[in-house]
Amino acid sequence: MIHEVAVIPGDGIGPEVVEAALGVLDAAAEAHGGVRFRYTHFPWSCRYYAEHGRMMPEEGLQTLSGFESIFLGAVGWPGVPDHVSLWGLLLPIRRRFEQYINYRPLRLLRGLRSPLKGIEPGDIDLVIVRENNEGEYSNMGGRIYEGTPREIVIQNTVFTRTGTERVVRFAFELARRRSRRLVSATKSNGINFTMPFWDQVVGEIAREYPDVTVSSYHIDALAAYFVLRPKTLDVVVGSNLFGDILSDLAAAIVGGIGLAPSANLNPERKYPSMFEPVHGSAPDIAGKGIANPTAAIWSAALMAEHLGHPDIASAIVQALEDTLAAGIVTPDQGGSAKTADVAAAVKARVRGRS
Ligand code: ATP
Ligand code: MG
Repeated sequence: MIHEVAVIPGDGIGPEVVEAALGVLDAAAEAHGGVRFRYTHFPWSCRYYAEHGRMMPEEGLQTLSGFESIFLGAVGWPGVPDHVSLWGLLLPIRRRFEQYINYRPLRLLRGLRSPLKGIEPGDIDLVIVRENNEGEYSNMGGRIYEGTPREIVIQNTVFTRTGTERVVRFAFELARRRSRRLVSATKSNGINFTMPFWDQVVGEIAREYPDVTVSSYHIDALAAYFVLRPKTLDVVVGSNLFGDILSDLAAAIVGGIGLAPSANLNPERKYPSMFEPVHGSAPDIAGKGIANPTAAIWSAALMAEHLGHPDIASAIVQALEDTLAAGIVTPDQGGSAKTADVAAAVKARVRGRS
């Protein structure tokens, strides 16, 4: 069985971690036999933007639609405004392919240290389910009287019933398969139209899941809980903005942004899903070969799982955790291993040669 994967390595450390991740994925597929991943690379990036004035060609989305899934490194580079790389590539892909779930598992793996006191590997094991198509990232709004004292800037937030119900239902399903506990991020005291609506939908869908205990917390209090009692959290669902903020926070408490994987899922599998590390292009360390490939390797495991190979996915995560526990870690985790060293060690383990 061959899976067709579109690969967008992107900018900075993107290509470095993508190479590491795909090498591990190939080794794991080979070890399991019968499965292959075929990669088609696309150079769409800020470099591409410098040459062509756009992040990807006009027919880019059409091209991607022919693949089973998309694997992305990172896009963004100093000098190119963030909204160009976001709205020129990442967000159109997420929206066109209805990747309305951003699935972000965070776990304190063996071999890693949390900056929080008294937290051991295994204590933190949670999933953030972020709405990925609408909400605060609306691209709607306006700005008038620019630069004058009367200047007015408005950004609209868009919550649809369909969009809210489907992300909340996905989170309940996930909670049912895990701890049967769900936390919902809200801010219905200050944001008094969209957030009460979000809470209302959570309440409605909760009735379909009497076996799942749901708690709603204001985003500010919830942020504090991530720091003060992360052990109690399991599945956390939030809007586009809240989910984004919480996942960077959660990445920090499990040791840093280089460890956080993500899947942009179209759960119906009508369109390709996209897998990418949460981190960016990290210009400060790009080209040095020291980027932590953990997030990208784990993202590759999420892709294998989505494509129907949970055995390959768990073999990768297990090998990754064993590698980190053996002290083969990059400088961001206090080690001296290079990206390629970590990748080689994980490959050896998925092949059972270590
Ligand atoms: P973006 O706007 O694309 O999110 P950013 O500048 O906000 O980019 P990152 O590129 O993720 O964020 O970098 C933030 C910090 O984390 C940088 O100091 C970077 O070196 C570090 N960092 C990010 N990813 C990794 C990684 N995989 N390994 C090691 N350090 C990383
Ligand atoms: Mg960032």
